[in-house]
Amino acid sequence: MPSASPSTDFNLQPLAFIDLETTGLRTTKDRITEIAIIRYQNGQELDRWSQLINPKMKIPEQIQHLTGIHQAMVDDAPEFKEVIDIVRGKLQGFTLVAHNARFDYGFLRNEFNRVNEQLHCQVLCTVKLSRRLFPKQQKHNLDALLAAANIPSENRHRAMSDTQALVGWFNSLPERVSIESINDGADQVMRQQALPSHIDPGQIMDIPDTAGVYLFYGENELPLYVGKSVTLRSRIRSHFYDDRHSNKEMQLLQQVRHIEYRSTAGELGALLLEASLVKQLCPVFNRQLRKKQQLVSLQWNGSIAQTPQVVDACRLNLHQCEQFYGLFRNKRDADQTLRKLSEEFRLCLKKPGLEKGKGACFGSQIGRCDGVCAGKEDEEIYLQRQHDVLNRIRLNAWPYPGALVIEEIAKAPYIGFDGKNYQSDFLLFDNWRYLGRFNSLEQAKTTYGDKQISDNLPAFDRDIYKILISQLKKQGEHLHLIPLEA
Ligand SMILES: [Zn+2]
Repeated sequence: MPSASPSTDFNLQPLAFIDLETTGLRTTKDRITEIAIIRYQNGQELDRWSQLINPKMKIPEQIQHLTGIHQAMVDDAPEFKEVIDIVRGKLQGFTLVAHNARFDYGFLRNEFNRVNEQLHCQVLCTVKLSRRLFPKQQKHNLDALLAAANIPSENRHRAMSDTQALVGWFNSLPERVSIESINDGADQVMRQQALPSHIDPGQIMDIPDTAGVYLFYGENELPLYVGKSVTLRSRIRSHFYDDRHSNKEMQLLQQVRHIEYRSTAGELGALLLEASLVKQLCPVFNRQLRKKQQLVSLQWNGSIAQTPQVVDACRLNLHQCEQFYGLFRNKRDADQTLRKLSEEFRLCLKKPGLEKGKGACFGSQIGRCDGVCAGKEDEEIYLQRQHDVLNRIRLNAWPYPGALVIEEIAKAPYIGFDGKNYQSDFLLFDNWRYLGRFNSLEQAKTTYGDKQISDNLPAFDRDIYKILISQLKKQGEHLHLIPLEA
Protein backbone atom coordinates (compact mmCIF):
# COMPACT_ATOMS: atom_id res chain seq x y z
CA MET A 1 0.00 0.00 0.00
CA PRO A 2 1.38 3.46 -0.88
CA SER A 3 1.32 5.98 1.94
CA ALA A 4 -1.72 8.24 2.15
CA SER A 5 -1.77 10.87 -0.58
CA PRO A 6 -2.96 14.40 0.31
CA SER A 7 -6.34 13.73 -1.31
CA THR A 8 -7.16 11.14 1.36
CA ASP A 9 -6.61 13.64 4.16
CA PHE A 10 -9.64 13.63 6.33
CA ASN A 11 -10.14 17.39 6.27
CA LEU A 12 -10.32 17.33 2.46
CA GLN A 13 -13.20 14.87 2.40
CA PRO A 14 -16.87 15.86 2.01
CA LEU A 15 -17.89 16.96 5.50
CA ALA A 16 -21.28 18.22 6.66
CA PHE A 17 -20.91 20.12 9.93
CA ILE A 18 -24.24 20.16 11.63
CA ASP A 19 -25.93 21.51 14.73
CA LEU A 20 -29.50 21.18 15.95
CA GLU A 21 -31.51 23.09 18.50
CA THR A 22 -34.25 21.02 20.11
CA THR A 23 -37.05 21.20 22.66
CA GLY A 24 -35.04 19.02 25.06
CA LEU A 25 -32.59 16.15 25.37
CA ARG A 26 -34.75 13.09 24.82
CA THR A 27 -34.05 11.95 21.27
CA THR A 28 -37.30 10.01 21.00
CA LYS A 29 -39.70 12.51 22.60
CA ASP A 30 -38.21 15.93 21.96
CA ARG A 31 -38.16 17.58 18.56
CA ILE A 32 -35.91 19.75 16.44
CA THR A 33 -36.49 23.53 16.45
CA GLU A 34 -33.57 24.62 14.29
CA ILE A 35 -31.03 23.00 12.01
CA ALA A 36 -27.84 24.35 10.46
CA ILE A 37 -25.48 22.64 8.05
CA ILE A 38 -22.18 23.93 6.69
CA ARG A 39 -20.65 21.73 4.00
CA TYR A 40 -16.95 21.45 3.18
CA GLN A 41 -15.23 19.69 0.33
CA ASN A 42 -11.54 19.70 -0.59
CA GLY A 43 -10.97 21.92 2.42
CA GLN A 44 -13.26 24.65 1.04
CA GLU A 45 -16.69 25.71 2.17
CA LEU A 46 -19.27 24.46 -0.32
CA ASP A 47 -22.46 25.96 1.10
CA ARG A 48 -24.29 26.76 4.31
CA TRP A 49 -27.94 26.47 5.22
CA SER A 50 -30.04 26.92 8.30
CA GLN A 51 -33.73 26.67 9.00
CA LEU A 52 -36.08 27.13 11.94
CA ILE A 53 -38.34 24.09 12.32
CA ASN A 54 -41.81 23.87 13.82
CA PRO A 55 -41.44 21.15 16.50
CA LYS A 56 -45.23 20.71 16.83
CA MET A 57 -44.83 20.84 20.59
CA LYS A 58 -44.21 23.43 23.31
CA ILE A 59 -40.65 24.58 23.80
CA PRO A 60 -39.99 24.60 27.57
CA GLU A 61 -39.39 28.09 29.01
CA GLN A 62 -35.79 27.47 30.06
CA ILE A 63 -34.92 26.15 26.60
CA GLN A 64 -36.49 29.18 24.92
CA HIS A 65 -34.34 31.24 27.24
CA LEU A 66 -31.16 29.26 26.53
CA THR A 67 -31.41 29.17 22.74
CA GLY A 68 -33.30 32.41 22.13
CA ILE A 69 -35.70 30.41 19.95
CA HIS A 70 -39.17 31.36 21.12
CA GLN A 71 -42.41 29.59 20.40
CA ALA A 72 -43.65 32.39 18.14
CA MET A 73 -40.53 32.05 15.96
CA VAL A 74 -41.25 28.40 15.12
CA ASP A 75 -45.06 28.34 15.01
CA ASP A 76 -45.03 29.45 11.39
CA ALA A 77 -41.85 27.63 10.42
CA PRO A 78 -42.00 24.50 8.23
CA GLU A 79 -42.12 21.09 9.91
CA PHE A 80 -39.10 18.83 9.54
CA LYS A 81 -40.86 16.63 6.99
CA GLU A 82 -41.22 19.68 4.75
CA VAL A 83 -37.44 20.19 4.60
CA ILE A 84 -36.44 16.53 4.73
CA ASP A 85 -35.57 16.48 1.01
CA ILE A 86 -33.12 19.33 1.53
CA VAL A 87 -31.53 17.60 4.54
CA ARG A 88 -31.27 14.28 2.74
CA GLY A 89 -29.68 15.96 -0.26
CA LYS A 90 -27.17 17.83 1.90
CA LEU A 91 -26.06 14.74 3.81
CA GLN A 92 -25.85 12.34 0.88
CA GLY A 93 -22.23 11.29 0.41
CA PHE A 94 -21.06 13.54 3.26
CA THR A 95 -19.72 12.61 6.67
CA LEU A 96 -21.87 14.15 9.37
CA VAL A 97 -19.66 16.08 11.82
CA ALA A 98 -21.27 17.23 15.05
CA HIS A 99 -20.42 17.95 18.64
CA ASN A 100 -21.77 15.01 20.62
CA ALA A 101 -22.91 13.53 17.31
CA ARG A 102 -24.94 10.77 18.90
CA PHE A 103 -27.43 13.43 19.95
CA ASP A 104 -27.79 15.15 16.55
CA TYR A 105 -27.71 11.89 14.61
CA GLY A 106 -30.33 10.41 16.95
CA PHE A 107 -32.68 13.35 16.45
CA LEU A 108 -32.25 13.29 12.68
CA ARG A 109 -32.80 9.54 12.48
CA ASN A 110 -35.99 9.86 14.50
CA GLU A 111 -37.28 12.59 12.20
CA PHE A 112 -36.58 10.35 9.19
CA ASN A 113 -38.28 7.46 10.98
CA ARG A 114 -41.41 9.53 11.45
CA VAL A 115 -41.90 9.54 7.70
CA ASN A 116 -40.86 5.87 7.43
CA GLU A 117 -37.46 6.64 6.02
CA GLN A 118 -34.04 5.70 7.26
CA LEU A 119 -31.02 7.91 7.46
CA HIS A 120 -27.61 6.30 7.17
CA CYS A 121 -24.43 8.27 7.12
CA GLN A 122 -20.92 8.20 8.40
CA VAL A 123 -20.66 10.13 11.61
CA LEU A 124 -17.76 11.90 13.27
CA CYS A 125 -18.22 13.11 16.83
CA THR A 126 -16.00 16.10 17.68
CA VAL A 127 -16.22 15.40 21.43
CA LYS A 128 -14.57 12.06 20.79
CA LEU A 129 -12.13 13.52 18.30
CA SER A 130 -11.11 16.22 20.77
CA ARG A 131 -10.64 13.64 23.52
CA ARG A 132 -8.40 11.64 21.25
CA LEU A 133 -6.35 14.56 19.93
CA PHE A 134 -6.08 16.45 23.22
CA PRO A 135 -6.18 13.82 25.97
CA LYS A 136 -4.73 16.23 28.53
CA GLN A 137 -7.49 18.77 28.04
CA GLN A 138 -9.96 18.33 30.90
CA LYS A 139 -13.22 19.45 29.35
CA HIS A 140 -14.47 18.80 25.86
CA ASN A 141 -17.69 20.77 25.67
CA LEU A 142 -17.92 23.24 22.80
CA ASP A 143 -16.97 26.24 24.96
CA ALA A 144 -13.90 24.43 26.22
CA LEU A 145 -12.88 23.50 22.67
CA LEU A 146 -13.26 27.07 21.47
CA ALA A 147 -11.31 28.43 24.43
CA ALA A 148 -8.49 25.95 23.85
CA ALA A 149 -8.28 26.99 20.19
CA ASN A 150 -8.55 30.72 20.98
CA ILE A 151 -11.73 31.09 18.97
CA PRO A 152 -14.09 33.79 20.21
CA SER A 153 -17.61 32.43 20.80
CA GLU A 154 -20.55 34.71 20.16
CA ASN A 155 -24.27 34.19 19.98
CA ARG A 156 -23.83 30.59 21.08
CA HIS A 157 -26.78 28.16 21.19
CA ARG A 158 -28.23 29.11 17.86
CA ALA A 159 -27.69 26.38 15.30
CA MET A 160 -25.72 28.34 12.70
CA SER A 161 -23.43 30.10 15.16
CA ASP A 162 -22.63 26.82 16.90
CA THR A 163 -21.98 25.11 13.58
CA GLN A 164 -19.72 27.97 12.54
CA ALA A 165 -17.86 27.71 15.84
CA LEU A 166 -17.40 23.99 15.27
CA VAL A 167 -16.05 24.57 11.76
CA GLY A 168 -13.67 27.16 13.21
CA TRP A 169 -12.38 24.66 15.75
CA PHE A 170 -12.00 21.95 13.13
CA ASN A 171 -10.11 24.26 10.78
CA SER A 172 -7.77 25.24 13.60
CA LEU A 173 -6.64 21.65 14.07
CA PRO A 174 -3.83 21.59 11.45
CA GLU A 175 -2.16 24.48 13.30
CA ARG A 176 -2.20 22.50 16.53
CA VAL A 177 -1.66 18.85 15.57
CA SER A 178 -0.25 16.99 12.58
CA ILE A 179 -2.43 15.98 9.63
CA GLU A 180 -1.50 12.35 10.41
CA SER A 181 -2.91 12.70 13.93
CA ILE A 182 -6.13 14.21 12.60
CA ASN A 183 -6.49 11.42 10.04
CA ASP A 184 -5.75 8.70 12.59
CA GLY A 185 -7.96 10.27 15.23
CA ALA A 186 -10.93 10.70 12.90
CA ASP A 187 -10.46 7.19 11.59
CA GLN A 188 -10.40 5.67 15.08
CA VAL A 189 -13.36 7.67 16.31
CA MET A 190 -15.49 6.80 13.31
CA ARG A 191 -14.61 3.15 13.56
CA GLN A 192 -15.51 3.13 17.25
CA GLN A 193 -18.79 4.81 16.56
CA ALA A 194 -19.85 2.52 13.79
CA LEU A 195 -22.14 -0.39 14.37
CA PRO A 196 -20.65 -3.77 13.56
CA SER A 197 -20.70 -3.84 9.77
CA HIS A 198 -23.21 -6.70 9.72
CA ILE A 199 -25.78 -4.77 11.72
CA ASP A 200 -28.16 -2.55 9.86
CA PRO A 201 -28.82 0.55 12.00
CA GLY A 202 -32.37 0.49 10.67
CA GLN A 203 -32.83 -2.85 12.37
CA ILE A 204 -32.23 -1.20 15.71
CA MET A 205 -34.54 1.68 14.94
CA ASP A 206 -37.29 -0.84 14.15
CA ILE A 207 -37.17 -2.35 17.63
CA PRO A 208 -40.00 -1.03 19.82
CA ASP A 209 -39.05 0.96 22.91
CA THR A 210 -41.12 -1.29 25.17
CA ALA A 211 -40.18 -3.83 27.81
CA GLY A 212 -38.67 -7.11 26.76
CA VAL A 213 -35.60 -9.20 26.17
CA TYR A 214 -32.97 -8.82 23.48
CA LEU A 215 -30.59 -11.42 22.13
CA PHE A 216 -27.23 -10.80 20.45
CA TYR A 217 -26.07 -13.56 18.14
CA GLY A 218 -22.60 -14.01 16.67
CA GLU A 219 -21.19 -16.03 13.76
CA ASN A 220 -23.11 -19.29 13.14
CA GLU A 221 -26.02 -18.23 15.35
CA LEU A 222 -23.88 -18.49 18.46
CA PRO A 223 -25.82 -16.90 21.34
CA LEU A 224 -23.56 -14.15 22.72
CA TYR A 225 -25.70 -12.24 25.15
CA VAL A 226 -29.23 -12.02 26.52
CA GLY A 227 -30.34 -8.83 28.25
CA LYS A 228 -33.59 -7.31 29.44
CA SER A 229 -34.86 -3.78 29.52
CA VAL A 230 -38.05 -1.81 30.00
CA THR A 231 -37.00 0.30 26.99
CA LEU A 232 -35.60 -2.18 24.48
CA ARG A 233 -34.56 0.13 21.66
CA SER A 234 -32.86 2.66 23.91
CA ARG A 235 -31.01 -0.09 25.75
CA ILE A 236 -29.77 -1.74 22.56
CA ARG A 237 -28.78 1.63 21.11
CA SER A 238 -26.84 2.44 24.24
CA HIS A 239 -24.80 -0.74 23.78
CA PHE A 240 -23.62 0.51 20.40
CA TYR A 241 -23.63 4.27 20.68
CA ASP A 242 -22.54 5.06 24.22
CA ASP A 243 -19.11 6.54 24.64
CA ARG A 244 -17.65 4.37 27.31
CA HIS A 245 -17.38 0.65 26.89
CA SER A 246 -15.45 -1.84 28.93
CA ASN A 247 -13.09 -4.08 26.97
CA LYS A 248 -15.48 -6.92 27.58
CA GLU A 249 -18.37 -5.01 26.06
CA MET A 250 -16.26 -3.98 23.04
CA GLN A 251 -15.39 -7.65 22.50
CA LEU A 252 -19.06 -8.54 22.65
CA LEU A 253 -20.22 -5.78 20.31
CA GLN A 254 -17.63 -6.58 17.66
CA GLN A 255 -18.90 -10.13 17.44
CA VAL A 256 -22.59 -9.33 17.09
CA ARG A 257 -24.00 -10.46 13.75
CA HIS A 258 -27.66 -10.15 14.38
CA ILE A 259 -30.11 -9.00 17.00
CA GLU A 260 -33.43 -10.45 18.07
CA TYR A 261 -35.92 -9.29 20.63
CA ARG A 262 -39.11 -10.41 22.40
CA SER A 263 -41.53 -7.88 23.81
CA THR A 264 -43.16 -8.33 27.20
CA ALA A 265 -45.79 -6.33 29.05
CA GLY A 266 -43.33 -5.13 31.67
CA GLU A 267 -40.29 -5.71 33.81
CA LEU A 268 -41.40 -8.89 35.56
CA GLY A 269 -42.13 -10.70 32.30
CA ALA A 270 -38.79 -9.50 30.93
CA LEU A 271 -36.84 -10.67 33.99
CA LEU A 272 -38.43 -14.13 33.85
CA LEU A 273 -37.86 -14.46 30.13
CA GLU A 274 -34.28 -13.33 30.48
CA ALA A 275 -33.64 -15.86 33.24
CA SER A 276 -35.09 -18.73 31.25
CA LEU A 277 -33.37 -17.79 27.97
CA VAL A 278 -30.00 -17.50 29.69
CA LYS A 279 -30.42 -20.98 31.15
CA GLN A 280 -31.62 -22.36 27.86
CA LEU A 281 -29.03 -20.73 25.56
CA CYS A 282 -26.01 -20.27 27.89
CA PRO A 283 -24.83 -17.13 26.07
CA VAL A 284 -21.07 -16.60 26.10
CA PHE A 285 -21.18 -13.17 27.74
CA ASN A 286 -23.81 -13.73 30.44
CA ARG A 287 -22.00 -14.12 33.72
CA GLN A 288 -24.93 -13.96 36.04
CA LEU A 289 -27.97 -16.19 35.83
CA ARG A 290 -25.75 -18.89 34.40
CA LYS A 291 -26.80 -22.47 33.85
CA LYS A 292 -28.83 -24.45 36.28
CA GLN A 293 -26.82 -24.94 39.42
CA GLN A 294 -27.01 -27.48 42.11
CA LEU A 295 -28.77 -25.92 45.04
CA VAL A 296 -29.07 -26.97 48.68
CA SER A 297 -30.93 -25.59 51.65
CA LEU A 298 -30.96 -26.22 55.40
CA GLN A 299 -33.94 -28.01 56.86
CA TRP A 300 -34.65 -27.76 60.57
CA ASN A 301 -37.73 -28.86 62.48
CA GLY A 302 -37.09 -26.42 65.33
CA SER A 303 -36.27 -28.96 68.07
CA ILE A 304 -33.11 -29.02 70.12
CA ALA A 305 -32.68 -32.69 69.30
CA GLN A 306 -32.42 -32.14 65.56
CA THR A 307 -29.51 -30.38 63.91
CA PRO A 308 -30.19 -28.41 60.67
CA GLN A 309 -29.82 -30.84 57.76
CA VAL A 310 -28.47 -30.03 54.32
CA VAL A 311 -31.12 -30.96 51.72
CA ASP A 312 -31.33 -30.79 47.93
CA ALA A 313 -33.26 -27.62 47.11
CA CYS A 314 -34.45 -28.66 43.66
CA ARG A 315 -37.48 -30.48 45.06
CA LEU A 316 -38.09 -27.89 47.75
CA ASN A 317 -41.72 -27.74 48.76
CA LEU A 318 -42.26 -24.36 50.30
CA HIS A 319 -45.93 -24.94 50.96
CA GLN A 320 -44.83 -26.28 54.34
CA CYS A 321 -41.79 -24.22 54.62
CA GLU A 322 -41.26 -22.76 58.05
CA GLN A 323 -38.30 -25.10 58.21
CA PHE A 324 -36.14 -24.21 55.19
CA TYR A 325 -33.26 -21.84 55.66
CA GLY A 326 -31.04 -20.26 52.99
CA LEU A 327 -30.03 -21.34 49.51
CA PHE A 328 -26.50 -22.53 48.90
CA ARG A 329 -24.50 -23.97 46.06
CA ASN A 330 -23.28 -26.92 48.15
CA LYS A 331 -22.95 -28.34 51.64
CA ARG A 332 -19.67 -26.50 52.20
CA ASP A 333 -21.29 -23.11 51.58
CA ALA A 334 -24.21 -24.07 53.83
CA ASP A 335 -21.85 -25.14 56.63
CA GLN A 336 -19.82 -21.98 56.22
CA THR A 337 -22.87 -19.76 56.58
CA LEU A 338 -24.03 -21.73 59.59
CA ARG A 339 -20.59 -21.43 61.17
CA LYS A 340 -20.44 -17.67 60.57
CA LEU A 341 -23.89 -17.10 62.03
CA SER A 342 -23.14 -19.36 65.01
CA GLU A 343 -19.92 -17.53 65.77
CA GLU A 344 -21.45 -14.12 65.36
CA PHE A 345 -24.33 -14.90 67.73
CA ARG A 346 -22.43 -17.11 70.18
CA LEU A 347 -24.36 -20.23 69.27
CA CYS A 348 -22.80 -23.64 69.81
CA LEU A 349 -20.94 -25.26 66.90
CA LYS A 350 -21.74 -28.69 68.31
CA LYS A 351 -25.48 -28.28 67.92
CA PRO A 352 -25.44 -28.02 64.11
CA GLY A 353 -22.77 -30.74 64.02
CA LEU A 354 -19.98 -28.40 62.94
CA GLU A 355 -17.80 -29.64 65.78
CA LYS A 356 -17.40 -33.29 66.81
CA GLY A 357 -16.50 -34.85 70.14
CA LYS A 358 -17.93 -35.16 73.62
CA GLY A 359 -18.49 -32.53 76.28
CA ALA A 360 -18.37 -28.75 75.97
CA CYS A 361 -17.39 -27.21 72.64
CA PHE A 362 -14.12 -25.39 72.07
CA GLY A 363 -15.96 -22.07 71.71
CA SER A 364 -17.45 -22.32 75.19
CA GLN A 365 -13.94 -22.50 76.66
CA ILE A 366 -12.84 -19.28 74.97
CA GLY A 367 -16.14 -17.45 75.43
CA ARG A 368 -17.42 -17.78 71.86
CA CYS A 369 -20.35 -20.02 72.77
CA ASP A 370 -22.78 -19.09 75.51
CA GLY A 371 -22.40 -22.65 76.75
CA VAL A 372 -25.54 -24.65 76.09
CA CYS A 373 -23.13 -27.56 75.58
CA ALA A 374 -21.70 -27.11 79.06
CA GLY A 375 -25.02 -26.61 80.84
CA LYS A 376 -24.32 -22.88 81.21
CA GLU A 377 -27.20 -21.78 78.99
CA ASP A 378 -30.82 -22.84 79.34
CA GLU A 379 -31.89 -25.06 76.39
CA GLU A 380 -35.15 -23.16 75.90
CA ILE A 381 -33.34 -19.87 75.65
CA TYR A 382 -30.76 -21.36 73.31
CA LEU A 383 -33.50 -22.77 71.09
CA GLN A 384 -35.17 -19.40 70.83
CA ARG A 385 -31.85 -17.77 69.95
CA GLN A 386 -31.14 -20.34 67.23
CA HIS A 387 -34.62 -19.70 65.84
CA ASP A 388 -34.02 -15.96 65.74
CA VAL A 389 -30.65 -16.34 64.07
CA LEU A 390 -31.83 -18.79 61.40
CA ASN A 391 -34.92 -16.71 60.71
CA ARG A 392 -32.60 -14.18 59.14
CA ILE A 393 -32.14 -16.56 56.22
CA ARG A 394 -35.47 -18.36 56.32
CA LEU A 395 -37.08 -18.95 52.94
CA ASN A 396 -40.48 -17.39 52.46
CA ALA A 397 -43.39 -19.77 52.52
CA TRP A 398 -45.48 -19.89 49.36
CA PRO A 399 -48.37 -17.78 50.64
CA TYR A 400 -51.13 -19.23 48.44
CA PRO A 401 -53.13 -22.44 48.71
CA GLY A 402 -52.67 -23.08 44.97
CA ALA A 403 -51.10 -21.36 42.01
CA LEU A 404 -50.81 -17.62 41.48
CA VAL A 405 -51.35 -15.73 38.25
CA ILE A 406 -49.77 -12.31 38.07
CA GLU A 407 -51.30 -10.11 35.44
CA GLU A 408 -48.66 -7.60 34.41
CA ILE A 409 -50.28 -4.64 32.71
CA ALA A 410 -48.30 -2.84 30.01
CA LYS A 411 -47.96 0.96 29.98
CA ALA A 412 -49.10 0.88 26.37
CA PRO A 413 -50.27 -2.07 24.26
CA TYR A 414 -47.36 -4.04 22.85
CA ILE A 415 -47.13 -6.20 19.76
CA GLY A 416 -46.56 -9.90 20.39
CA PHE A 417 -44.67 -12.19 18.04
CA ASP A 418 -47.95 -13.19 16.43
CA GLY A 419 -48.34 -9.56 15.36
CA LYS A 420 -51.32 -8.98 17.64
CA ASN A 421 -51.64 -6.23 20.21
CA TYR A 422 -51.49 -7.18 23.87
CA GLN A 423 -52.22 -5.17 26.97
CA SER A 424 -51.09 -7.66 29.62
CA ASP A 425 -49.02 -10.74 30.28
CA PHE A 426 -50.44 -13.47 32.50
CA LEU A 427 -47.58 -15.08 34.42
CA LEU A 428 -48.28 -18.38 36.13
CA PHE A 429 -46.48 -19.49 39.32
CA ASP A 430 -46.84 -22.30 41.81
CA ASN A 431 -44.74 -22.94 44.90
CA TRP A 432 -42.23 -20.29 43.68
CA ARG A 433 -41.88 -22.10 40.33
CA TYR A 434 -42.51 -20.20 37.12
CA LEU A 435 -44.83 -22.12 34.82
CA GLY A 436 -45.04 -19.75 31.86
CA ARG A 437 -46.35 -16.61 30.24
CA PHE A 438 -49.82 -16.50 28.69
CA ASN A 439 -51.93 -14.09 26.70
CA SER A 440 -55.05 -14.61 28.79
CA LEU A 441 -56.11 -15.67 32.26
CA GLU A 442 -58.08 -18.53 30.68
CA GLN A 443 -54.95 -19.95 29.05
CA ALA A 444 -53.08 -19.77 32.35
CA LYS A 445 -55.94 -21.51 34.19
CA THR A 446 -56.20 -24.25 31.59
CA THR A 447 -52.48 -24.90 31.78
CA TYR A 448 -52.59 -25.06 35.57
CA GLY A 449 -55.54 -27.43 35.42
CA ASP A 450 -53.42 -29.81 33.39
CA LYS A 451 -52.26 -32.59 35.74
CA GLN A 452 -49.00 -32.91 33.84
CA ILE A 453 -47.94 -29.45 34.93
CA SER A 454 -49.21 -29.22 38.49
CA ASP A 455 -47.89 -32.66 39.42
CA ASN A 456 -44.47 -32.18 37.85
CA LEU A 457 -43.30 -28.78 38.94
CA PRO A 458 -39.93 -27.72 37.54
CA ALA A 459 -36.93 -27.64 39.87
CA PHE A 460 -36.83 -24.85 42.41
CA ASP A 461 -34.82 -22.00 40.89
CA ARG A 462 -33.06 -19.42 43.01
CA ASP A 463 -33.24 -16.69 40.31
CA ILE A 464 -36.99 -17.07 39.85
CA TYR A 465 -37.51 -17.07 43.63
CA LYS A 466 -35.50 -13.85 44.00
CA ILE A 467 -37.18 -12.11 41.06
CA LEU A 468 -40.62 -12.95 42.41
CA ILE A 469 -39.86 -11.95 46.02
CA SER A 470 -38.47 -8.57 44.95
CA GLN A 471 -41.29 -7.85 42.51
CA LEU A 472 -43.96 -8.78 45.05
CA LYS A 473 -42.30 -6.44 47.54
CA LYS A 474 -42.35 -3.58 45.04
CA GLN A 475 -45.81 -4.47 43.76
CA GLY A 476 -47.63 -1.52 42.25
CA GLU A 477 -50.69 -0.95 40.19
CA HIS A 478 -49.28 -2.65 37.10
CA LEU A 479 -49.16 -6.02 38.88
CA HIS A 480 -52.52 -7.67 39.53
CA LEU A 481 -52.37 -10.79 41.72
CA ILE A 482 -54.90 -13.53 40.95
CA PRO A 483 -54.62 -16.61 43.24
CA LEU A 484 -56.07 -19.78 41.72
CA GLU A 485 -57.90 -22.53 43.62
CA ALA A 486 -55.68 -25.43 44.66
ZN1 LIG B 1 -20.93 -24.89 72.69
